[in-house]
Amino acid sequence: MRKILLSMLALLGCGSIASGAGFVVEEIAPGNFVHYGRHEDRSALNLGDNANIGFIVGERCVAVIDSGGSLAVGRALREAIAGVTPQPVCYVITTHVHPDHFFGAAAFLADRPQYVGHAELPRALAARGKFYKGTLERDLGEAGAGSEIIVPELLVKDRLRLDLGGRFIEVRAWPLAHTDNDLTVFDETTSTLWLADLLFLQHTPVVDGSILGFLRVLDDLAALPARTIVPGHGRSDAAWPQVLDAQKRYLGLIVRETRQALGNGVPIQDAVESVGAQEAPNWVNFDTYHKRNVTGAYTELEWED
Ligand SMILES: [Zn+2]
Repeated sequence: MRKILLSMLALLGCGSIASGAGFVVEEIAPGNFVHYGRHEDRSALNLGDNANIGFIVGERCVAVIDSGGSLAVGRALREAIAGVTPQPVCYVITTHVHPDHFFGAAAFLADRPQYVGHAELPRALAARGKFYKGTLERDLGEAGAGSEIIVPELLVKDRLRLDLGGRFIEVRAWPLAHTDNDLTVFDETTSTLWLADLLFLQHTPVVDGSILGFLRVLDDLAALPARTIVPGHGRSDAAWPQVLDAQKRYLGLIVRETRQALGNGVPIQDAVESVGAQEAPNWVNFDTYHKRNVTGAYTELEWED
């Protein structure tokens, strides 16, 4: 396993990141390199380096799987690729609409790659892009300069098989789950499954699509023949598919307790205080995301038969 450390200070050419911080990628399976993001609020110090991102190296070219939360992170990832292979980047895959996954996309423009996304991603970017740009500027200030939204043109409705030279990867589009534009990437050579935000570990799961859809997709994912996995946030050496269990338990508990609350006529403002509260010790960033998940579940389940 290779570990590569780059100084983000050098890449930025300024002192806007805490000293000692570095950009590390790990080869988790042959030709599959992951950079693990941090479980912190986005800031000028961490540059929006909050999601797991990475790349897969073929004999002809490289596929990037998410470009990170700012141009600076995308550039650090591009540097890391250059440290592994002289091959160009031919695909930049954006796994979904959340800004910690795509704001580094412009770092790869010089490679003239094809930008790949879910068929629903352009619509989602159009709806939210302006808001996401504003909040990036608010949180990162000058450190976020140059971070651009690049709307993908190679769109995936179901499955798309991409040839990296001696290595095929399959990009798969999923129905409404974490968002309405989730992709996974499967490296056929090593059976490595990149789940993006269809799997959260340690970090509180986020539901920005449908909690019932999320649970259904998790069942479908569990049937895939993965040997190594990459979650969108966090990490684990647990076996596949048992590594999905903690998130399934969390989402399932919210569904059960929200249905009970609805059945008992508990108003939403009380439900968000009680539903799933016992899960707090199991997750980081719980206060930031959990109540929003319950609010979403309450709205979604309110009109069930
Ligand atoms: Zn996400």
